[in-house]
Amino acid sequence: MSRLSQFYTVEVGDTKFTILKRYQNLKPIGSGAQGIVCAAVDTETQQNVAIKKLSRPFQNVTHAKRAYREFKLMKLVNHKNIIGLLNAFTPQRSLEDFQDVYLVMELMDANLCQVIQMDLDHERMSYLLYQMLCGIKHLHSAGIIHRDLKPSNIVVKSDCTLKILDFGLARTAGTTFMMTPYVVTRYYRAPEVILGMGYTENVDIWSVGCIMGEMIRGGVLFPGTDHIDQWNKIIEQLGTPSQQFMMRLQPTVRNYVENRPRFTGFPFDKLFPDVLFPSDSSEHNRLKASQARDLLSRMLVIDPERRISVDDALLHPYINVWYDELEVNAPAPGPYDHSVDEREHTVEQWKELIYQEVMEYESSRGRGASSSQPSPASNSIEPNGTDSMR
Ligand code: AMP
Repeated sequence: MSRLSQFYTVEVGDTKFTILKRYQNLKPIGSGAQGIVCAAVDTETQQNVAIKKLSRPFQNVTHAKRAYREFKLMKLVNHKNIIGLLNAFTPQRSLEDFQDVYLVMELMDANLCQVIQMDLDHERMSYLLYQMLCGIKHLHSAGIIHRDLKPSNIVVKSDCTLKILDFGLARTAGTTFMMTPYVVTRYYRAPEVILGMGYTENVDIWSVGCIMGEMIRGGVLFPGTDHIDQWNKIIEQLGTPSQQFMMRLQPTVRNYVENRPRFTGFPFDKLFPDVLFPSDSSEHNRLKASQARDLLSRMLVIDPERRISVDDALLHPYINVWYDELEVNAPAPGPYDHSVDEREHTVEQWKELIYQEVMEYESSRGRGASSSQPSPASNSIEPNGTDSMR
């Protein structure tokens, strides 16, 4: 079969999808900074899939780095709580013509923004949190510290299974100014990210705490219009952090933070009062509500040195009812070679790098082949927040 005949074009809203014929019945389900996502049926496997179109991912350096990193990491990581790559292709056949990349993934039912609106019982809420923690722990085991977990990048199925959709901030993320119509959500970013401090794995616990708090409260906990406003929302509720914490800030940030009005913050039973929890006052529900509040009080801690670790959160009584060794300690993927997303490339170089990755992927499985097994790869990620108040 000629190459061209393997593809067809369908319009989804304003966007043209030129995709392999095996994928039929496209319906738009979401959009993000990178492009449009559609649900489709894979007629070869009868499986429902999600197809994300990355339109000209090399159009600027920020887009390109993100697309490249995400594609590499999706190929590398294999865990039930991280979205898996089923297929990837480009309809163009030469570097000169290269335009778009299509990523085929498992289809989920909704993102967490939609679920947060619902009245969740303790069973569902604790199960969702457990799965987030398992996915995060798995990313950490590969040296990937996310730093940007948020409800729009977490998807769930109606059976309450959950997957994380993306891999967060690259070490050098945020250095490039980009005009984008998309507003970047920063509500879930930890104090150490906002304040441009060093960070460790439990930076991701803060985001889980924000998501859990939002599930209970039904509204965003710290909805700042910018980093400064967000910091104010944090200290108004949780209180001004200790002097010990201030000492670890860079001088200019420290000067700003120390000169804010002082807040004592509120106890957690005032921040998350009983009325917010399932209303029937059975012994079981009362116990669960107090466990949930206890976990929140350990996650929403401004000072990361006092914040609970991922391992301890997994062992917390609210969460550990779901503990399964195979999910918590799944074999680590090969570490990711961080040096790649630290190198600076021109748009033309990124175009070639992304094209090569897609070609390599296509030939490693034969065009159109479908598999959820990631290809073997070698290589580690580490810190340094740049999108901060510095
Ligand atoms: P993204 O471009 O990855 O940020 O995704 C944008 C939105 O598309 C998400 O917030 C989800 O609502 C939806 N989405 C992306 N991937 C999937 C998927 N595999 N299954 C279901 N919905 C998805």
